[in-house]
Amino acid sequence: MIKSFHPPLRTLMGPGPSDVHPRVLAAMARPTIGHLDPAFIGMMDEIKQLLQYALRTENALTLPVSAPGSAGMEACFVNLVEPGDKVIVCQNGVFGGRMKENVERFGGVALMVEDPWGEAVSVDKVRALLEQHDNIKALAFVHAETSTGVQSNAKALCALARDYGCLSIVDAVTSLAGIELEVDAWGVDALYSGTQKCLSAPPGISPVTFSERALEAVRNRKTRSPSWFLDKNLVMGYWGGGQKRAYHHTAPVNALYGLHESLVMLQEEGIEASWQRHMHHHTALRSGLEAMGLEMAVAADVRLPQLNSVMIPDGVDDAALRGRLLSDYSLEIGAGLGALAGKVWRIGLMGSSCSRRHVMLCLDALENALVEQGADVTAGRAAAAAAACYAESVA
Ligand SMILES: *Cc1c(COP(=O)(O)O)cnc(C)c1O
Repeated sequence: MIKSFHPPLRTLMGPGPSDVHPRVLAAMARPTIGHLDPAFIGMMDEIKQLLQYALRTENALTLPVSAPGSAGMEACFVNLVEPGDKVIVCQNGVFGGRMKENVERFGGVALMVEDPWGEAVSVDKVRALLEQHDNIKALAFVHAETSTGVQSNAKALCALARDYGCLSIVDAVTSLAGIELEVDAWGVDALYSGTQKCLSAPPGISPVTFSERALEAVRNRKTRSPSWFLDKNLVMGYWGGGQKRAYHHTAPVNALYGLHESLVMLQEEGIEASWQRHMHHHTALRSGLEAMGLEMAVAADVRLPQLNSVMIPDGVDDAALRGRLLSDYSLEIGAGLGALAGKVWRIGLMGSSCSRRHVMLCLDALENALVEQGADVTAGRAAAAAAACYAESVA
């Protein structure tokens, strides 16, 4: 007989999912009601308002797609890219490559701007490409590249898109609530995010927002969107506001209770305070790692506070060390991906996983595991270095 599943209690400090707050888990255990129940529709309207707050936008089309971040990505491309459209796609890690896939699958032509893994998207290269071509439909880039821990200059890139008359499509899966993100002030046109990174809700939902310009492009399509499920015109009838909902699909009722609660918590904290908290704990973690003799993989000016790529010291067995953290501390950190596999660890400080408790646990666990492997690190200094950071910020 197969028994009930009870997951082990972990501390999640990888690239997502991050720790889900007990308030969010409790919200998800509340009774399931019908997705067209007036009480549920009222909650959907609140989620929209809370997302507008978190994203700093008044876009009417702001809603959670009932599927993970990858579906939010697809929702942006399948609605905005038509056969033959030219789209500039910036790639400096894993996720830019997926944007290219999306453009090509929907019949578009992807013009690539490639930068090395671990570096930001070059605004100059994007400008040069915009100068060379006419009729670019959109500029697509990843704000926070979770595969490397790098942030790109979303404000400058969106401004460029406006200057050259094309739409901007922004991946904000890891940036939302972790670093400054201003949809309206920066003129972002289409943006998708995720719930399991800095919002610390369970995975499986993707907040998306479209500007009026983006909606205009959707309305003016020459061809029908090849996706029925993600067609914005249809989804709007369901999420568009008011009590007149047309059945489109059954919303993931309890998952949305969880998202609602996590957004309520974000509002209580304040979006700017959330950005600051991520920077605050990143500073302490970094001090501790450097005091140990470890090296950050990404240059300081483009480093993401919520995703810390750290060089693995020579001679250390990457998989064995991460296995040790999991077995001895029930602590998960992320492995390197693609070009950085085996070279870096990715330590997430996202949402509920961004606290002093997380920073201190991670430094202690990592130091002990490295010493055990005989790695060339300085023991006994990391905790004090992090504590000094905290003491300084209180003063
Ligand atoms: C996690 C992530 C995604 C994909 O989100 P899923 O919820 O895993 O589908 C996309 N882009 C970035 C930058 C991410 O970090």
